Formats: sequence, structure tokens, C-alpha cells
Amino acid sequence: MNNIPTVMILFGGSGDLAHRKIYPALFNLYRRNVIHDNFAVIGTARRPWSHEYLREQVAQAVHESWEEVDEAQLTEFASHFYYQSHDVTNVEHYVTLKQLAQELDERYECGGNRIFYMAMAPSFFGTIAEHIADQHLTGTGFNRLVVEKPFGTDLASAEVLNQQIRNSFAEDQVFRIDHYLGKEMVQNILPLRFGNSLFKRIWNADAVKNVQVTLAERLGVEARGDYYNNSGALRDMVQNHIMQIITLLAMPEPKDLSDKAIHAAKEDLLASLVIPDEKAVSENIIRGQYLGTETTFEYVKEPNVAEDSKTETYVAGRLEFSKGPLAGVPVYFRTGKEMREKKTRVDVVFKDEAGLYGDKAKTNVLTIEIDPVNQVYFRLNGKIVAGGDLRLERFRYRYSEDEQAEVPDGYERLIHDVFVNDSTNFTKWEELKQYWRFVDAVEAAWQKQNAAGEKPVKYRPYGMGPDTSKILADPEDGWIYK
Ligand code: NAD
Repeated sequence: MNNIPTVMILFGGSGDLAHRKIYPALFNLYRRNVIHDNFAVIGTARRPWSHEYLREQVAQAVHESWEEVDEAQLTEFASHFYYQSHDVTNVEHYVTLKQLAQELDERYECGGNRIFYMAMAPSFFGTIAEHIADQHLTGTGFNRLVVEKPFGTDLASAEVLNQQIRNSFAEDQVFRIDHYLGKEMVQNILPLRFGNSLFKRIWNADAVKNVQVTLAERLGVEARGDYYNNSGALRDMVQNHIMQIITLLAMPEPKDLSDKAIHAAKEDLLASLVIPDEKAVSENIIRGQYLGTETTFEYVKEPNVAEDSKTETYVAGRLEFSKGPLAGVPVYFRTGKEMREKKTRVDVVFKDEAGLYGDKAKTNVLTIEIDPVNQVYFRLNGKIVAGGDLRLERFRYRYSEDEQAEVPDGYERLIHDVFVNDSTNFTKWEELKQYWRFVDAVEAAWQKQNAAGEKPVKYRPYGMGPDTSKILADPEDGWIYK
């Protein structure tokens, strides 16, 4: 689809996300003709910027992200941007915003189509949604709402927010962003599973021993202590990115590749997510907090973090589903800050079959590396050259440098999908609800542990976090990614 007529209203137009991700993504969509003559973007924030200043910011953001830029094209693109100083808590400002949107709609012949993008602090999402409704900001064409994460801080607050949004938007008009779903190798999970008879046939509890998902971050909380201390690793990473990756790994085969069928399969699976009780949390979930080094702070010494903070900067756990192809198979996950290196990967570990070669034949593992490199490999046994013994080999597929350069940024892909109304790679309410149920159960158990004087385990930076052997039913194999 080309030149999709739209007025986009961007809440948080002076923010970091808009600058680093949204403006460069929109420019590339403009270069690709997805949007072209008939679009306008209204950037809003509190600062008193002019249209001209916003356009300069947009141009700067584009230059920071793209090496080769046609200046005339960039000037033309930026001329579609308008700035509206707007305090999202002030009702009157929505009236001005509505007028500007209508004016631009006519000028650019946008057919009453609107995309609202909430790219600001989540505490404002509900207020914005309510004022979009009570000031009737929606247009006469299509109306879509893009919401950043986090969507709520627990199930109860997510429900309130969802209700506020539903006053103006139906579920199929809401695009909840999880930028991991825009990543190349995350989008490759279903093709790998269902496009290969080899994997399709063995993706079940008979053949799969366990699944391991790692999302490691190299850095600490840096300047985000304030936000992070109220969130922690479980809410910040597991509730969304890790859960979505696990869902793609464990869901049943969808009827077809439509967004509806894919979400239906996800919902089917998630209804069977086993919600842990207190005992299961204490047995299966480990939380940690990083220590300092000579040059970095210990977590509890970071700016804006209380000295007695029990917020986890690391979490590892084991969960399972009672239905679906991997029913009963342990799914291990872990994520943390201040770890050895930045890495997101999945290891699907297959069962050992003590056959002719006994112990000499090692476990088969399918590894999907999501960050920082896009690659997939399969570990299998073969014979050594000119000898009879076995050795482990890797079948690997990796993109060439040219292909790698073509991989679009996750944000560009997802914003594109909003324009073309494809909600496959967004989080639906039913999915989100189940993720929060799981997270809430863990948080509640941790609250009790805190009251009993228990604390997160301290771990040293540059490693793989605290000892997790207690949650691994098979500590012999342990984590494939050591
Ligand atoms: P930011 O603090 O850089 O920007 C916030 C924006 O909101 C600014 O434009 C600010 O002027 C505006 N704002 C604040 N109070 C306002 C008010 N009362 N009225 C009108 N405007 C107001 O935040 P960010 O990093 O751009 O993050 C925005 C959202 O995107 C958050 O939900 C965040 O969780 C999410 N997100 C950000 C990133 C990232 O890389 N920055 C990544 C993933 C998700």
C-alpha cells in the first residue's frame, strides 16, 4: 500500500523515543512511499516549540540515523510536520489540537484518518485516552491508537487503562507496542517452526526437553533508577518481551497466517499458562541485584534508588503451560542488567536418546540468536574426519552483510504495520492480561518474602547473574548459553 492518507498525532514529540526511533522510521516509510503526499504529523509536548523548530529536530534525528539522505527529500518530508504545544492534562489544549488536525486533514486530503501515538510517560496514557474520547478527537476515517509500554503496572491498573482506551477505540484499533515483536529473529520463530517439517514434527513434549530464553543486558540502570526502581526486571522485561518470545515458541499452529488466527492461537496457549503459587515462586523463581565494581555503582547506590531497595535487577525462572505442543515442558527464562554481554537468544533443547552411540551423542539444540546478531544454528552430532568418534557440529544460517543491512529497525516495521492495519506483531489485551496474572502472582509472593526479611541475591557484574541451578530440573545440562 502506498501513500496512505493519515494525520498522525504524536504525544511526546520532543521525547527520546520520537527522536531516536519514530522520526527516522517515518522518514524511511516516506522514502518507501508508504506515506507520501497525503500525510501530516502533529508533534505535541509541553515545550513552546515552533513548527520550524520541530522540523529542524526531525531533520537532525533523520541525519543521526541514516547515512545517505537526499536533502531535498528530507526538507519535503519535514514540511509535513507541525508542532502543537500541549499539556496533556489540560482539556482546552485538545480543542486546539482537534482544530489543527482537521485543518491538516483538509490541506493534505487525509480522508479523516487518524493515528494517535502515545510516546510519553505511561502515567499519562489514561488521561490522553480519556480526552481523545471526551473532546472527540477521532476522525471520520480510520482511527488507530499506538500505545508504548508499559501497559499498566499490574493487572488492576492495566484493566483501568484498557477501559479508558476502550471509550474511544475498539480492541482492533489498539496497537500495543512490544518492539521485540519487530525484531527479525523474533519474527522468524513461526517460519522456523511451521515452515520446516523437521521442526514441526518434533516440536512437542515427546521430543523437547526444555526451552531456554535469555535476555541479558550489559549495562546497569544508568540514569533510569527512578523509573526502574518501581518496575524491576520482572515487569520491565519478562511481562512483555520474554513472555511474547515464549508465546511464539509454545503456541499451537495457527489456522492460517492472518493476525486473527495468530492471536487466537496465542490466546489458546496463554489460557493454559500455569500461574505459580507462593511455594512454586520460591522454588522456581530467583531474583537478584547487582553489586558494584571499582567503576560502577552497586544497584542500591545508584542515583534515585533507596539503599534498602528490594527491586530485582535480575530474574530467572521456570514456567510451564498445561496445553499446547509443549504442555508440561519446562520453559526457563532469565534476564538481568550488568551481565557479561548484551545477548538475546533462545535455546530449544531436545531430549537425549541413548542409542548406538550412548553418551558420545550430545543433546541436539536449536539456537535462535535475536540480539546482537541475527542467526540460527542447530547443534548436531557427526563423525570426526577419518575417525569413528563423534563430534558436535553446527548447521548455521546467518544473513550476509548485505542482507543484514536490509533488516529494518523494529520500530520501522511496527509503525509500517500500523499504517497498513496489520496487528499481528502487537500485544492483544487477552495476552497482556495473562502476562500480568503471572507477574502479579510472582510479585505478591515476593512481597511476602520481603515481609519475612528475604532479599534478592547479590550478584557480581560481568557474569551471568546469581546461581540458578536450583530452578533447573536438570542441573547437569544447565543453561546451554553459559
Ligand atoms: P521522554 O521522557 O524522553 O519523553 C517524554 C515526552 O513527553 C516529552 O516529549 C515531554 O515533553 C512530554 N511530556 C511530559 N509531560 C507532558 C505533559 N504533561 N504534557 C505534554 N507532554 C508532556 O520519554 P521517552 O524515552 O521518549 O519514552 C516515551 C515512551 O516510550 C515511554 O512509555 C517509554 O516507556 C517508551 N519507550 C521508550 C524507549 C526509548 O528508547 N526511549 C524504548 C521503549 C519504550
